Amino acid sequence: MTEQYQHRARKRFGQNFLHDAGVIDRILRSINAKSGDRMLEIGPGQGALTEGLLDSGAQLDVVELDKDLVPILNQQFADRSNFNLHQGDALKFDFNSLDAAPNSLRVVGNLPYNISTPLIFHLLSNAGLIRDMHFMLQKEVVERLAAGPGGGDWGRLSIMVQYHCRVEHLFNVGPGAFNPPPKVDSAIVRLVPHAILPHPAKDHRLLERVVREAFNQRRKTLRNTLKLLLSSAEIESAGVDGSLRPEQLDLAAFVRLADKLSDQLASKAEAN
Ligand code: SAM
Repeated sequence: MTEQYQHRARKRFGQNFLHDAGVIDRILRSINAKSGDRMLEIGPGQGALTEGLLDSGAQLDVVELDKDLVPILNQQFADRSNFNLHQGDALKFDFNSLDAAPNSLRVVGNLPYNISTPLIFHLLSNAGLIRDMHFMLQKEVVERLAAGPGGGDWGRLSIMVQYHCRVEHLFNVGPGAFNPPPKVDSAIVRLVPHAILPHPAKDHRLLERVVREAFNQRRKTLRNTLKLLLSSAEIESAGVDGSLRPEQLDLAAFVRLADKLSDQLASKAEAN
């Protein structure tokens, strides 16, 4: 008789396991994995999405933090030649170790909500490897990812993710699809890294700095929040009205401010 492993969901690992077959099927259809695809699943849990991904014939690596889930996953999938399990923290996972070709990796996951933002930033630092990403996230996070300028959802997350990716809010998922049900609504998002960045910054670290500084105090004017980085005249010469608040600026305007800072730092370095 095969041994059956029992697992109790753990809050500290953000474990809310999908059990609604209709929702699982809809997610798998959105991902549309194909034989020959190179896939990475973050947090496979008890394998709700894993099975369908493996059935597609795609080559699938999974990264799961919870050691107690390893025997459960192995029991179900270890005999599949397209399955490869890594036990560890996805935030520390070296995506280059997968030896995937540029723009090939398809990343999926019903993500633990506590790590979703740092994980997306970790993945974006390897954006050149990635073909696309499909994530289940807290609905509010998806709304921030997909937001446009002018509203309260537009901020550091929207800008830095949209710098690298096209964002599509695909559909919402209620708490009843999970066991145990989370206290929040969820949504599926698709992120597709741009083949060519629409608004490339001279130095994307300076873009991050300007955006972080600007949104630290989102009620204040840019002239005020950016005063340690750029003078009023420099803001104006980047074609930006310094009396605006950060949420009124689009990505292109933030890139112009970051490039202005880059020029200013370069001319300071030259003068020294
Ligand atoms: N994919 C499964 C599903 O849809 O039913 C599980 C989703 S559950 C919301 C999140 C999963 O991520 C859990 O299995 C949890 O143990 C795992 N996890 C949590 N933190 C992680 C981390 N830092 N790295 C990798 N996996 C993690």
